[in-house]
Amino acid sequence: MRDLEQLVRKNIWNLKPYSCARDEFKGEASVFLDANENPFYSGYNRYPDPRQLALKAKISKIKGIGAEHIMLGNGSDEPIDLVYRIFCEPGKENVVAMEPTYGMYGVCADINNIEYRRIPLNADYSLNVKAMLDAADANTKVMWLCSPNNPTGNLMNRNDIYAVLNEFDGIVVIDEAYIDFSSEPSWLAELDKFPNLIVLQTFSKAWAMAGARCGMAFASTQIIELFNKVKYPYNINSLTQNIISERIDKIAEKESQVELILKERSRLAEELKKCNIVECVYPSDANFLLVKVADADKTYNALVGKGTIVRNRNTVKLCGNCLRITIGTKEENDTLINVLCMMYDV
Ligand SMILES: *Cc1c(COP(=O)(O)O)cnc(C)c1O
Repeated sequence: MRDLEQLVRKNIWNLKPYSCARDEFKGEASVFLDANENPFYSGYNRYPDPRQLALKAKISKIKGIGAEHIMLGNGSDEPIDLVYRIFCEPGKENVVAMEPTYGMYGVCADINNIEYRRIPLNADYSLNVKAMLDAADANTKVMWLCSPNNPTGNLMNRNDIYAVLNEFDGIVVIDEAYIDFSSEPSWLAELDKFPNLIVLQTFSKAWAMAGARCGMAFASTQIIELFNKVKYPYNINSLTQNIISERIDKIAEKESQVELILKERSRLAEELKKCNIVECVYPSDANFLLVKVADADKTYNALVGKGTIVRNRNTVKLCGNCLRITIGTKEENDTLINVLCMMYDV
């Protein structure tokens, strides 16, 4: 890995962050006259903890990783954007990403005026490691990996990811939004071996908290300090900190829901394979199935006509005539199966 200082934009490396009232005084006290808040209790009259220490302590416990290795964002979308703002010089530097994958990496690159180099996956949706490494030059700061990948649903091969981590000398992001549905362990366990690794996870999928907007970035303490410098001071509001914290207390409920979703994933895959118009159900380590049909546009529109919405991925590279179908409740999946398998002439 290049020195961190070489990887970080000069203005960010030299940045003196805004110091908010809640940052300057962290101890116990009974009279707070430091933040120009309204003193009358409303439940939310006080600013939230800018470093979310209570929530991070809980996350630290369930993930087995120190709180100083955790950054929390307004969804994973916040750390995705911050990676560009911390590491990539607009109009000059570039990133390399596998394709197809989650659309936000490319959108945030465009917003930040960073060149985004798309490297197609192999036909079996595995990483083309050589092509990714070959695409990198002296101005490449970041490589984006997503495993399990959206929209293909598969895990990237572990040795392929090792190769990228070992051979690329910049930042490697592994987005694990779907890791709770996966048969393989998280890369979090490898964090201390790779100072260039950032792992992203989220409360939006398995934890059933998409509406609360809370994503996690895990990395070396040095990288986490950079995130802390650049993020808005109060980026996670008090309501979100409280409800995510309560949700973590109900981890058993999350685990039984994941188990149900996995059971339904197998059942739905088997049922879909019997449908006339289904050509292929791709293996999935996520809470959705990528399904190839005879004519994705027609099938999508027919499903919409019946009030069932899936994601049409027909125009996505390597996903021609594919629909991405989220695993729902048993009843929802039955509705989908009934509608889809009645279609003979689309
Ligand atoms: C859904 C998803 C996310 C989650 O984004 P949030 O902003 O945390 O809701 C991140 N990455 C991928 C690949 C996803 O599919």
